[in-house]
Amino acid sequence: MINRKKFLSTSLKGIAAGATSLSLFPKVIARPSPMNTIKGPMDGLRRLSGFQELRRNVGLFTGRGGTIGWLYNSEALVAIDTQFPDTAETFINGLTERGASSMDLLVNSHHHNDHTAGNGVFAPFAQHIIAHENVPTYQRNSNQDSDAKPITADQRFSSKWSGDFGDETLHLMHYGAAHTGGDTISFFEKAQVAHLGDLVFNRAYPYIDPSSGASVQNWVRVLNTIVEELPKDTIYIFGHGHPEFGITGTWEDINRKKAFLEELLTLGNEAIMAGKSKEEFAQMEVIPGFEEFAAPGWRLPLYYNLNIVYDELRSTS
Ligand SMILES: [Zn+2]
Repeated sequence: MINRKKFLSTSLKGIAAGATSLSLFPKVIARPSPMNTIKGPMDGLRRLSGFQELRRNVGLFTGRGGTIGWLYNSEALVAIDTQFPDTAETFINGLTERGASSMDLLVNSHHHNDHTAGNGVFAPFAQHIIAHENVPTYQRNSNQDSDAKPITADQRFSSKWSGDFGDETLHLMHYGAAHTGGDTISFFEKAQVAHLGDLVFNRAYPYIDPSSGASVQNWVRVLNTIVEELPKDTIYIFGHGHPEFGITGTWEDINRKKAFLEELLTLGNEAIMAGKSKEEFAQMEVIPGFEEFAAPGWRLPLYYNLNIVYDELRSTS
């Protein structure tokens, strides 16, 4: 079912060409394809637990950890992220039950274990793993205390990469440091669906990883670039989300996240200018105007965000 030759030729082309300019993306508002007109192997996936199609053979899988994205058409199979070994197995089993025998490409959106710990389960099934060039090093550094060596990408890119998979084209973009120093945006051009990894924790306090190159100030610029460059009709898959607001959304959800980060920076700058200590600043219990970010049961508290923003502003001012 999977056309391996086709993948090899397209992947080599993608690596050699390095990039497809985003200016080629149509800036038109495309109408979603009616789901019931799409016939392909994923028709059956729709009935399996955890799998959800979004548009034109592109969908998501939820188990435990960062949301997995997938493309499954009659010629190719691609996945983004692998969660943990147990849910990775559930995901792969779901695909093999629908007739898949191998995966053309696995993308790691970034190195965090809730997105890559299942790589070992995917590895025998996936022909290639691709990630931003900083990811393997971050992955090894963050698993130094673990007995098992992490499975890392065999293909890397620095800013842009593209490949054709059946009748779909996948673009990978890295717009600079944000949640980590190795975040990838995976954009399916025909379906107009983008997987953002952890660039958006939808309406929840985000994890920020300065020890792996994160920058809150640049994160704002990265979110701005996504909204400017991708078509308005794009459906976005988020790594994590508030139970009420979900793990998919639109450019408006990205703008909401951007506004939250901007407010953290504004408040942090004001606190520093007023001579407040980090401890005083981190006592805020909610950001006024962003009360919905206090997601019930969310394990990352606001003070954690405030500490990191304060440190970043002090080190860059
Ligand atoms: Zn993450």
